[in-house]
Amino acid sequence: MDLDRPHPFTPFPGTDAETFIQWKGTQVCLDLYCSCSPREPRHFDADFAYYLRCPACGAVYETGTQLKMRRLAADEQPAMEPAESVDE
Ligand SMILES: [Zn+2]
Repeated sequence: MDLDRPHPFTPFPGTDAETFIQWKGTQVCLDLYCSCSPREPRHFDADFAYYLRCPACGAVYETGTQLKMRRLAADEQPAMEPAESVDE
């Protein structure tokens, strides 16, 4: 990993591989644990969720472009077929 590359290529802490997501307006279902109430997640089912607003305190968050990736050992491989790169 090149630690000198700027955002959004800054390595995600603890990841086994770097990622960069270009959101394409897809649906998302997620829980936001805002710092105003970290034990009370706010649930979102939304389209175009590039930004989220906490309904409790009004804080606005930008949806990230990176994921924490965990490399699976051979005996952890899922039954479903993993997605293939479009570059191949
Ligand atoms: Zn909040």
